[in-house]
Amino acid sequence: MQVRLEKLQNKLPQAGLDGLLIGNRENRLYMSGFTGSEGKLLVTREGAFLCVDFRYVEQAREQAPGWEIVEYQRPYTATLSRLITGLGLQKVGFEKEYLSYQGYQSLLDNIPGIKWLPVAGLVESLRLQKDEAEIESIKRASRLDDLAFGHIVEYLGPGLREREVALELEVFARRQGGEGASFDIIVASGPRAALPHGVASDKLLQAGELVIMDFGTIVDSYHSDFTRTVIIGEPSAKQRKVYEVVREAQETALAAVAPGRSAGEIDALARKVIADRGYGPYFGHGVGHGVGLNIHEGPQLSPGAETVLLPGMVITIEPGIYIPGWGGVRIEDLLLVTETGCEVFTQSSRELIKI
Ligand code: ZN
Ligand code: ZN
Repeated sequence: MQVRLEKLQNKLPQAGLDGLLIGNRENRLYMSGFTGSEGKLLVTREGAFLCVDFRYVEQAREQAPGWEIVEYQRPYTATLSRLITGLGLQKVGFEKEYLSYQGYQSLLDNIPGIKWLPVAGLVESLRLQKDEAEIESIKRASRLDDLAFGHIVEYLGPGLREREVALELEVFARRQGGEGASFDIIVASGPRAALPHGVASDKLLQAGELVIMDFGTIVDSYHSDFTRTVIIGEPSAKQRKVYEVVREAQETALAAVAPGRSAGEIDALARKVIADRGYGPYFGHGVGHGVGLNIHEGPQLSPGAETVLLPGMVITIEPGIYIPGWGGVRIEDLLLVTETGCEVFTQSSRELIKI
């Protein structure tokens, strides 16, 4: 945590800031270790303050050693105003992507006389490359996904509702130590598999249908992300073909992941495989994304993305083909960019599994 703080403090002068106000939950947690649902960080070039209300004072002291804990009465701006004035700050940044208009107005009204500057990405840029503890948490979450998938393959069958499958996946992962699901679990069967984000519905699984299951687990506040597509019964020739194209695209992109390559390059490799087989129009999303305290974070692996992959980035590779009215296939692995290539966390087979 101390290293993270120093890195952020070093960024303040070049951003033209005396201080930065942080309210976003994930950024706050990343910087301080404080897991509470409410609180503000004020980071100055030399100081670090965690402002919380009465409910969180003890917790903040325990979780955020090295931070000066400031207890505030509502509204927090009165306390913050005294703090900022006392420190003699002139230019303070706020997170323009997360502060509401009302919150911004309240800063202007209640803490006048200083310059409020909109900033984005300062903490997020630090979060791009994970440290060892973060990697360990994500790996554990990914392991739970593999176990949950192994379990669900035994559980699945025609006549089950998509929602029951989603519930079973979540309960299983939680029993094994997961803190919760990373997002609303996607179970999309038959024609619904053409919906890239087909959150589980009341639909019954039927023989002959492809079923996309996309889920993840939270461990130590870190997320994982996992997708496999299975077939209930025997696949048709077209189902098998589409599956193999997605698999080839996924494995091609995966094999190319290495530090120094751009996110857009990796996306293009998967996209080319799919386009060459004639399914180009049916792959409409980016090939992957970063995963960490948020399920979707930087880097984005999408067409034209210039971000260069660096060791420590945790990303997904998840191409898909979605044919309206017919169904779809997606295969998603979670992996770590290493010094020499990548380490794939997801262990489940990429063969088409018949239920
Ligand atoms: Zn996913
Ligand atoms: Zn994903």
